Amino acid sequence: MRSILFMIFFLICSVSAEEKEIIPNNRDGHCDLCGSCQCIRRVPVVKPTTKKIEKICVHVKYEDEVIPGPSCLCGEHHGDDACGCFWYRLWKPTWAKVITKKIPVSTRVTREVPSYEWVVEERCCQCQ
Ligand SMILES: [Zn+2]
Repeated sequence: MRSILFMIFFLICSVSAEEKEIIPNNRDGHCDLCGSCQCIRRVPVVKPTTKKIEKICVHVKYEDEVIPGPSCLCGEHHGDDACGCFWYRLWKPTWAKVITKKIPVSTRVTREVPSYEWVVEERCCQCQ
């Protein structure tokens, strides 16, 4: 019986806690400009602020690359190392050309620009 009463009391307390109003911090019943508490109204006020805008910039990066031409065979040569004797073919490049590649690069930039926002403030009848 005692536990049932405790459960009912707990349920009533939890329901009343959920029904509480959430009062904003700036709602104290006084004018935000002069501090008066007569004829208080909640009015929207425009405030200057800054906002951040994210932008993706795409630009081109230039990079040189060597394109090799054909090579000619300069013969077979003999080598020697710790593993033993070996033969290898020696290829000599004849010519090459340089090309400039365009590589697109994207960077993410965050810009901070001035803006306005609406704020609810309390004002008295004289300040408005
Ligand atoms: Zn005022």
